[in-house]
Amino acid sequence: MLDDFKDNKFYEYACNLKKYFHAYIFEVSDIDSTYPLILAFAKMIICKNHLTNNKQCDCNICHLIDENYYNDLKVIEPDGKQIRKEQIKQLQNDFSLKSANDTNQVYIIKEAEKMNDSASNSLLKFIEEPASNIYAILITTSRDSLLPTIISRCQTIELNLTNKLTYIEEDYQNNLKFLKLLQKEKENTLAYLKSSYFSIYQTREDVLKSFKILEIILDKEINRRNNIISDFAYYNLLANELKNFSLEELIFYLNKIINYHDKLIKNPYLNLILFMDRLVIEISREGIK
Ligand SMILES: [Zn+2]
Repeated sequence: MLDDFKDNKFYEYACNLKKYFHAYIFEVSDIDSTYPLILAFAKMIICKNHLTNNKQCDCNICHLIDENYYNDLKVIEPDGKQIRKEQIKQLQNDFSLKSANDTNQVYIIKEAEKMNDSASNSLLKFIEEPASNIYAILITTSRDSLLPTIISRCQTIELNLTNKLTYIEEDYQNNLKFLKLLQKEKENTLAYLKSSYFSIYQTREDVLKSFKILEIILDKEINRRNNIISDFAYYNLLANELKNFSLEELIFYLNKIINYHDKLIKNPYLNLILFMDRLVIEISREGIK
């Protein structure tokens, strides 16, 4: 998935630590699906090791951020329908003290277009006189609803991954479900094939697509375990799903899937139902002990 935004400015900023601006606007088409990426970006501002050399950082700070316990990263969300001035004031107070952790301080404002006028004006003052270690990230689905004076002081990054990600996500979920069932339920997965899988993946093309996704999932997770991951969106979405798989299992499944994928490509007239049944049975019987 990283390829999806490789041409995107996000990647450029994220990879070039020296180019930080003090305030960013992320204009997104959907907040939930892009938030993991934006959070990864915030992490990089705070922890210099995060994702350097394409490695996911394992430090205390990064863990605290993941668990929402890091007090030099503040997230502001609408309080009801609006973001109010008091919320911005509170933030300024919280950040007026030097970071106890001696790191950069980052605040994220979700749905920034919901700031009312007085909140916007308070924020503007805050952005206008940035302390050297404070960074702002505003997330909005509609940049034009922000004060022009705020926009002009921020670096805007457009993240329009939504359509693609939503599409992939759905397919990812289906295939993850299949993988997890296969690991847990072994041959009982045959019932799932009948009841669900084949209603989603009906044609040979569909099944080829499913194999492709299974390979991507497994390949990326194997890479992530080996610390060669550089794909924020991916690990936030999927790593947790595969936590019960050992590395050996992932490799075993990947080899099987590649092998069957190959068979399917070479034999255009395979009976798909028998073919998938055989895959499930073979994996269940041979599976990692
Ligand atoms: Zn770290």
